Amino acid sequence: MPGQREDQRAERPKVLVLGGGFGGIGAARKLADADVDVVLVDRNDYHTFQPLLYQVATDLLEAGAVGHSLRDLFHDQPNVTVHRGNVTSIDVEKRTVAFSDRKPLDYEYLVVALGATVNFFGTEGAAKHGFPMYTLADAVRLKEHVLDRWEAVDRDPALIDDGALNVVVVGGGPTGVESVGALAELYRSNFAADYPAVSQDKVRLILVEAGPTLFAMFKQDIRDYTKKTLEKRGVEVLVGEAVSSVAPTRVTLKSGKVLPAHTLVWGAGLQASELGAALPVELERGHRAPAEPDLSLAGHPEVFAVGDIAWTVDSATGDVLPQLGSVALQTGEWAGENIARRVAGKETKPFVYEDKGTMATIGRAAAVVQFRRGRTMKGKAASLAWGAVHLALLSTGEDRAKALINWTWAGFTHERPGRISVRTDVDDEKRSES
Ligand SMILES: Cc1cc2nc3c(=O)[nH]c(=O)nc-3n(C[C@H](O)[C@H](O)[C@H](O)COP(=O)(O)OP(=O)(O)OC[C@H]3O[C@@H](n4cnc5c(N)ncnc54)[C@H](O)[C@@H]3O)c2cc1C
Repeated sequence: MPGQREDQRAERPKVLVLGGGFGGIGAARKLADADVDVVLVDRNDYHTFQPLLYQVATDLLEAGAVGHSLRDLFHDQPNVTVHRGNVTSIDVEKRTVAFSDRKPLDYEYLVVALGATVNFFGTEGAAKHGFPMYTLADAVRLKEHVLDRWEAVDRDPALIDDGALNVVVVGGGPTGVESVGALAELYRSNFAADYPAVSQDKVRLILVEAGPTLFAMFKQDIRDYTKKTLEKRGVEVLVGEAVSSVAPTRVTLKSGKVLPAHTLVWGAGLQASELGAALPVELERGHRAPAEPDLSLAGHPEVFAVGDIAWTVDSATGDVLPQLGSVALQTGEWAGENIARRVAGKETKPFVYEDKGTMATIGRAAAVVQFRRGRTMKGKAASLAWGAVHLALLSTGEDRAKALINWTWAGFTHERPGRISVRTDVDDEKRSES
């Protein structure tokens, strides 16, 4: 009976999960059989699958394949309630969380899984004119902007000489390399066919990395392969060059070089959510909150920090773990399990990471994988491994099916279904005229 259920609920501990990314979802799911009520709050009503954002930005996947309704994800888990809310502060002493758009919520257990955000390192003009790649809105904005620049050139071909179609991508890590690799495919294959009047020789894709090499976290053979593959696909790779300022149509490098480009993609850095500062711990590098071996916070066994916001150490190796989807999912799940253990009166367990390798794609049939013991894989086999791992990370069977169909279709046809621009402002114009 509904009334009975409410009474039972009132007596159970409340677990408040902040953030519906990999970490938050992992924690909430692991509490399915625990004697608790879970409340999950995110400022969006959807979960974002960040590793595939660049595929939305480059029209390979539609937004719906990368964002999934959070409420839908928990239809089959009756002890979870989902709310949309923007967290503004966390008070661990009073055990309460405040929001800008809803009433405060209290808790017995708290999972902080608020992720990270882009870091422009104070580069002049970057926040205003650059396109970061961290949210679904970022990816859609970039996609619309790129389509708009090609249409602008279609109307006025002289804009090519002003760099209207050129793209500067900042950052030689996975986000920058994956973005520029996907843009190269979109430009050299799809746009070459869509806009036959535009000479591809006049269109530049430039990857800028401040350090001496791309993919600093990978071994030398992977770095060489990545650079060669990108160059073969028409990307200029500039290493040892940093961006000093960004204007709407120009990117200036610290060396003084000025690159004409109407698009700058920022894939160079991130920092943990600023809400980490509300936690009673001294933050580590990148504003990350240090977690204890069982992923709780020192002095607060009821508060857990997981995913990108946390500074997590693998108890088996002593390594500080990188900000990756697999780390976020596994730490979230582990925190959920530890809360369930504590509620059941058991001891918590120290976190051990299961490393499936570090990987990235460069484009069609070109990916790289480095396993924990140093073995590397490149090319088609690595592409398949990348696909398998990322399909497994997607949150539902339906999302996996959608991604698989799109990838397979694109593999055979080179087609990119997202390559349309939906102008909602046109409808608004019409409405105001009538
Ligand atoms: C472009 C890109 C490519 C990547 N590629 C890979 C890859 O190939 N493989 C891999 O393993 N990892 C990859 N990563 C990293 C991976 O996506 C992250 O490590 C992972 O998403 C972190 O999960 P999380 O749950 O900690 O945070 P997130 O996934 O960022 O989730 C945090 C959630 O908190 C919500 N939130 C934030 N602030 C607030 C607030 N104030 N109030 C309410 N809600 C809030 C957000 O809306 C979000 O839903 C990539 C990341 C990016 C950006």
